[in-house]
Amino acid sequence: MSFHRSIHLVFTSVLFMSSLFFVLNKPVSAQTAQPLQPIINPQQVYTYATTTRDLKALAARYSDFIQLSSAGKSEYGRELWTADIGKGSAVILLLGSHHAREWITTINSMMLMEQMAQQYEQGASVFGGYRARDLLDRVTFRIVPMVNPDGVTLQQLGLSAFPAAVHPSLIQMNSGSSNFKRWKANGKGIDLNRSYPAGWSDIHNPGNAPYYMNYKGLQPLQAKEAKAMYDLTLSTKPEIAVAYHSSGEILYWNFKTKPQFFARDQAIANAYASLTSYQLVQPKPHPSGGGFTDWFITQFERPGLTPELGRSAGETNVPLSEWNRIWGQQRNTVWLLAKEGYALWMKRQAASPLHVDIRVTAGEFGYMYPDLKSRIVTKVEPGRYTASRLKGDWIEIQTIKGIVWISARSIIKGPFDVLEQSTIAIDANTIAYVSPLAALPSPIILTDQTATIVERWQGWLLIQTNSGTYWIREPKAAVPPTSVTPEATTVGAA
Ligand SMILES: [Zn+2]
Repeated sequence: MSFHRSIHLVFTSVLFMSSLFFVLNKPVSAQTAQPLQPIINPQQVYTYATTTRDLKALAARYSDFIQLSSAGKSEYGRELWTADIGKGSAVILLLGSHHAREWITTINSMMLMEQMAQQYEQGASVFGGYRARDLLDRVTFRIVPMVNPDGVTLQQLGLSAFPAAVHPSLIQMNSGSSNFKRWKANGKGIDLNRSYPAGWSDIHNPGNAPYYMNYKGLQPLQAKEAKAMYDLTLSTKPEIAVAYHSSGEILYWNFKTKPQFFARDQAIANAYASLTSYQLVQPKPHPSGGGFTDWFITQFERPGLTPELGRSAGETNVPLSEWNRIWGQQRNTVWLLAKEGYALWMKRQAASPLHVDIRVTAGEFGYMYPDLKSRIVTKVEPGRYTASRLKGDWIEIQTIKGIVWISARSIIKGPFDVLEQSTIAIDANTIAYVSPLAALPSPIILTDQTATIVERWQGWLLIQTNSGTYWIREPKAAVPPTSVTPEATTVGAA
């Protein structure tokens, strides 16, 4: 069972990418070679409208590896934007602004996303000695930068952003004040980080009515935003979840963590703490629950981190003057999370035999083991190989330098058809590619010539030209392969 499932996983993701190819691939132009201005300006009161605009701009600019969707709507109908960045099966979940006045965590989530996109595009080496591409081809970050857009909007813009009919009740929840700078709750006066079903009935000081902070509601997941995060997390099954809060430069990492997971989670928390200089919060005998990571740790028995960003700011938002300090502490944490999350995912993947004909469509490093930190044995050139084993998103192949493991990201799997038609005329209208996979867009214009057709794969032809081998889209009137009977051709054409 697991044998077939694993193969299915790898190759459906490859096929999925190839089916998106024409949508995503854009011809290289002079403009895209210029360094691009950053989309996000972190030095501003970062609103829901700004978040929405910047997310759309990021998803448009980096359309081949950022996808934008919504996990649902807030109580007042604002989108709970969710951005996926990366191409891997191991998912890391990052959540910002559960609490209204803590919106500097939205800036943090957005900046982490743009930085990852830039480093991926630049092919940069990143923290830990990895290449950004090697990590983001293996890991996907699922990011909800603003879990509580109603509360953030109330904290930043005040009553004017809400219907007049609810002004009296909002003022009442705010102890009679129309200054909302201390607001933590959602738009209905429920504290979203006291809403999750983990130790919910034992929450300390739960309140008894909607309030600007601490009220846990009548039952877990009463708030739409908390229910949406709960559903999103259950369907995502992240390796690691991080819920950003402010303030204090401390890190929560434990909630009734079972002994068998204690050392694992503590090691990850220690690594995060040493990178950020945050203080680890020591486990207490009777912790107050209901928090997102309290629930995540309990539900999945996987690491859940709650960093408190910024030096203590009191009962208000962290000032923007604190941002540069926060960014210096936070910017490399995603690469630590990627490395750790990927390791957790790989640990669950069993190696299984796999005897299939494959094509490697891009140069890859051949590693001694399916591990980015293992020795690089050789550079694997594009070409024909036989895969012997599969483990996670790695494939074992035979090369002239011996047996090595390579990433499955640039691999396509047969059948590969040999065509009756052995040559094809190439002209200025033919666009050639190094690889038919969306991961490796590389349109090339060839000179007029007659090329030799090597083989066909799923609507693509591999051709031998006088400047090397390339993939082109199969022309509509191509001759059928030798293996297809005339009857089948008629049916196909009808
Ligand atoms: Zn908080």
